[in-house]
Amino acid sequence: MKVASPLLLLSSLLVSVLASPGPINNGPRPSRPLPPVQSNQLRRLLLRSNLLKHADALEEQAKLSDGNRAFGTKAHNATVDYIKRKLDATGYYDTELQTFEYLFSEGTANFTAVIAGAQKNYDTEWFTYGPAGTVEAKVVIVNELGCVATNFPAEVKGSIALIKRGSCEFGLKIALAGAAGAAGAVIYNNVDAPVGGGTLGQPSRPEGPYVPAASLSGIDGNALVASVAAGEVKGKVFVDAINEMRYTSNVLATTKGGDKNHIVMAGGHTDSVPAGPGINDDGSGAMGLLEIALRLPKWSVRNAIRFGFWTAEEYGLVGSEHWVTSLTAEQTSSIALYLNADMIASPNFGYFLYDGDGSAFNVTGPAGSDHIEHLFESYFTSVGIRSAPTAFDGRSDYGPFLDAGIPSGGIFTGAEGIKTAQEAEWWGGRAGQAYDPNYHLAGDGRVNLDVGAWVQNTKAFAHALATYANSLEGIPRMNKRGVLEKKQISHDKRRHAACNHEFSEI
Ligand SMILES: [Zn+2]
Ligand SMILES: [Zn+2]
Repeated sequence: MKVASPLLLLSSLLVSVLASPGPINNGPRPSRPLPPVQSNQLRRLLLRSNLLKHADALEEQAKLSDGNRAFGTKAHNATVDYIKRKLDATGYYDTELQTFEYLFSEGTANFTAVIAGAQKNYDTEWFTYGPAGTVEAKVVIVNELGCVATNFPAEVKGSIALIKRGSCEFGLKIALAGAAGAAGAVIYNNVDAPVGGGTLGQPSRPEGPYVPAASLSGIDGNALVASVAAGEVKGKVFVDAINEMRYTSNVLATTKGGDKNHIVMAGGHTDSVPAGPGINDDGSGAMGLLEIALRLPKWSVRNAIRFGFWTAEEYGLVGSEHWVTSLTAEQTSSIALYLNADMIASPNFGYFLYDGDGSAFNVTGPAGSDHIEHLFESYFTSVGIRSAPTAFDGRSDYGPFLDAGIPSGGIFTGAEGIKTAQEAEWWGGRAGQAYDPNYHLAGDGRVNLDVGAWVQNTKAFAHALATYANSLEGIPRMNKRGVLEKKQISHDKRRHAACNHEFSEI
């Protein structure tokens, strides 16, 4: 975010002076001062039909890239354009694309083996950042868990290393296999089930080069170990993958009006995982905020409002981190607070609020985070909805804001977590099932949203924005630099976090 230069400010002042009411009617319309934003009036304009139009648009965009909107794809770029175009059309915001490069990774992996003369095709998964390639070689069992170089026998050279999951990250195992001269590698699970995907972490690493790799379930892996122990097994690893730097953008939009020293901020992420279109995660949050931004221009704001639409959240909060760390100390301290919207329309939803006061999860956010939680809480109470706290652990785009000492809060309707009987009593839905059974899957489409919850949560964000746009009473304004060391979660850990979910890398 760049601070507007004094020259720009001066020129916009001149323009507004020149545009003041006059007799000529082919000029800009006479500007009447807008009334200050009121929560109830803004909320009234937030319509289910408009939210659904955005959801339809995102689904159309996903078709450009095999049904997903992962960062670096045409589909995700279309989402970014859509947001920027709609915001620009209002004339109410200064918008900015913050564009940067990040390593894109997409692929599939296959593994087959010839056992006792018969070819077996396995159910396999690819690891993010795993390199492409085809390897046909004998399969060699790696000792222990393959976390140190001495676990790799000499005969691994030129072979496919068969490694058990556990104790250290996938990336280290594959790099050590590369260092031992393996041509390829297979990691099998330490429980019966499939590994369920995972990341090797970005290359390169000092331990060795990555080699083409696939994962197997524990059942298949143990059977394969037995076959290899009984006699030579020839295997084939085939990985089809693209790993390349791609440009991607955050969208920032700040109201032209309002005090820029006390900015009220809200954000959500624009990308999906490669597995699906990401309409709840996080079409719901991003489009809810977009819809608020599109209705807001009927009013004025005392404190400026800024919307942040983040890219590459699913790769570990990349976009939000990139933006927050690009700010000067002065720009950071101009942000009064941050509200995060990530997954607010889960089909088996709960009304969860980030536990900013630490009452339930014992992690307290920067002072003021408690105020945000209480504001949401009393809003929901006022409209007859019970809410409950959820962990405030930095595993979505508010993480970098917490690190910068900015009071934060937000709403979340649940991901892979299981709804309790008590929660089903409060909110309806199915106890014993995930809040979002389609979390990070192909089924995260428009038909699987709870639109009622989506509307309610969008209105709650509108209420918080309208309230804080008028007054920041209760939100301490302090020197943000003084709290920088109060990190909730380390940077390295956060690199492997997204959407209240930890990336599997071990
Ligand atoms: Zn996600
Ligand atoms: Zn998300």
